[in-house]
Amino acid sequence: MSDAPLNILRSVFGYEEFRSPQDEIIEELNAGRDALVLMPTGGGKSLCYQIPALLLEGVGVVVSPLIALMHDQVEALRQLGVEASYLNSTLNSEEARQTEAKLLSGELDLLYIAPERLIQNRTLDLLAKAKIALFAIDEAHCVSQWGHDFRSDYLQLSVLSALFPKVPRIALTATADERTRQEIIKRLSLEKAAVFISGFDRPNIQYRINQKDNTKRQLLHFLRTEHGNDAGIIYCLSRKKVESMAAWLCDEGFMALPYHAGLPAQLRRQHQNRFLREEGVIIVATIAFGMGIDKPDVRFVAHLDLPKSVEAYYQETGRAGRDGEPANAWMVYGLSDVIKLRQMLESSQAEEQFKRVEQHKLNAMLGLCEITSCRRHALLKYFDEENSEYCGNCDTCLRPVQTWDGTVAAQKVLSCVYRSGQRFGVNHIVDILLGKDTEKIKQFGHQNLRTFGIGTDLDGNQWRSVFRQLVARGYLAVDVAGFGGLHLTEQSRPLLKGNEKISLRKDVSSSTKTKGKSKGHKNKHNIKDEDAKLWQALRACRKALADEHGVPPYVIFHDATLMEMMEYKPTEDSQLLKVSGVGESKLEKYGAAFLAVIASINESAEIDNHTNVLAALSDGLSAETIAGQCKISIAAVYTELSREIAAGNLNLESVISFTEVELHLIQDTILIFDDPGREGMQLKPVFEALEGKYSHGVLRCVRASMSIGQVAPVRPSLS
Ligand SMILES: [Zn+2]
Repeated sequence: MSDAPLNILRSVFGYEEFRSPQDEIIEELNAGRDALVLMPTGGGKSLCYQIPALLLEGVGVVVSPLIALMHDQVEALRQLGVEASYLNSTLNSEEARQTEAKLLSGELDLLYIAPERLIQNRTLDLLAKAKIALFAIDEAHCVSQWGHDFRSDYLQLSVLSALFPKVPRIALTATADERTRQEIIKRLSLEKAAVFISGFDRPNIQYRINQKDNTKRQLLHFLRTEHGNDAGIIYCLSRKKVESMAAWLCDEGFMALPYHAGLPAQLRRQHQNRFLREEGVIIVATIAFGMGIDKPDVRFVAHLDLPKSVEAYYQETGRAGRDGEPANAWMVYGLSDVIKLRQMLESSQAEEQFKRVEQHKLNAMLGLCEITSCRRHALLKYFDEENSEYCGNCDTCLRPVQTWDGTVAAQKVLSCVYRSGQRFGVNHIVDILLGKDTEKIKQFGHQNLRTFGIGTDLDGNQWRSVFRQLVARGYLAVDVAGFGGLHLTEQSRPLLKGNEKISLRKDVSSSTKTKGKSKGHKNKHNIKDEDAKLWQALRACRKALADEHGVPPYVIFHDATLMEMMEYKPTEDSQLLKVSGVGESKLEKYGAAFLAVIASINESAEIDNHTNVLAALSDGLSAETIAGQCKISIAAVYTELSREIAAGNLNLESVISFTEVELHLIQDTILIFDDPGREGMQLKPVFEALEGKYSHGVLRCVRASMSIGQVAPVRPSLS
């Protein structure tokens, strides 16, 4: 493979190395061959076609259904110095004409285009006159009629292989099971394409599913302890709940905005834009929100209602942490969710075959909720991917679930349901089990049942937990009429007869749930106290530049890039260029601004260090104590002290105590290697000659005292 792709990766995009299999995919396209790419969100899909588009002659045409995204995508490329443009219904005719002219004159590197626009004869004629480098078909799963994102326009994209047989095509998606994969290949005529499957794992996402007891209290605890100022998405099933939740969160001091299909388009757009452009905005949404959101720094996705399938759960939670930084997928679910969804499905008017598929999907989702082993393992297995059975970053791994033999309890429940006529809901059956004296019990004479009061060994909540698990696992079914009546199923017979055992999950109350200590709990970006000021300043600088250029902050730089700046504190262009995410174009545009921020914070930190260290020293404290007290490293303390010594403000003797022999040894060693007064003298050889017995900081202080000819009076050391 030539160096060209890597050079572009470094100079334009600012990344050091490719992530496998990006380089192989690029090689396929450069050689004029087709590719099908399955890569999880955040895996770096777009580079796979952007780099070949820059290398090959002509324009790279990107087909995407996400019109709302195109403006920001194109803007992000222009920030990198790439000639990019888009064609969709949001442009007026003059703007469209200008873009078309650029296309024909060969000025464009990349052109984003909506599928409905592409398949128009007029557009195809236009493309036939232009030089095309490649076609990239993004969100390729939209071609699948089985999926929930089906777009009929995608079916017609097969025309590309017929009209442009020599142009390489790449289809990309983040979600596609085996069947969808086959459909993509067939419908887009990609039989000859090399297939690249990168796996579905999103290791930076922590999966957590809690039992619902008090949704609002649980959510508030989660947000306050882990996501104080973070951007996130909260999913609810109904529009009404979306609105009430958003309003309530605002009352609680969060910046939360509602989003659902019932809101006026203008307001929806406004909320989406604020989510993209401002920091720390929470969107409360129905599933209508998400497709078309490419915000990399969403730190959490919370589900207050159960998604309908594992695919939906994976896709919705996948909107968190696209930048690869730690993120949470958090959900609460309970008995009522199980009953509600089971009921919706039972009473659906859909065809039997469709209903069976849906039933199967819901069962898989419920299975994921009730599982007592690693959630990630189960999630990936659903997509036919094998993974370790311990991921260390899901709730069941972090806090293993206790189980208990629920056979007898389940038998009591099933028998109670059977004897009361298989038409009552959970609450009434629990009353029978507990032997309660209620109106309804008397009305139906249920105090006379043999099962009346046989369940006093558990309390109401524990019984509800048993019911939830029995319904989730298919031992009890919900009536079609919609009143929540339960009846037995084929599956419950062996359990009831004692031919089968059942192990149940021991629910933990949410207040004692996973707190702290966990590996993935560093969601607050792990910022050390002394860096907090720099982090805030870097973010403020990014926000100001974003506002100035009318783009979302992450288009300027991702969080990960700012984190690296914070860590390495570059002081010049060449160092800044080494930070991942900083390419030549961005260095030129923003380098000076960020370097200035880092320099000013460094300076003020030095001034702070200086005054603090001197004050502490006058209190007679040791270097170690000063470092602890001023929250800086010991090396930084010695740097301050050596400067003071060199300036003649401080005696070596007042700082460090040596024996005469020790001091002479150090002084002699320094003299062997160099003149202590020389600018830039290296202490490393001295350090090594003294076998590391004295730290660089101590040596620096001795050297400073020698450089000004200070003859330190030696006092007897106690050691
Ligand atoms: Zn796990």
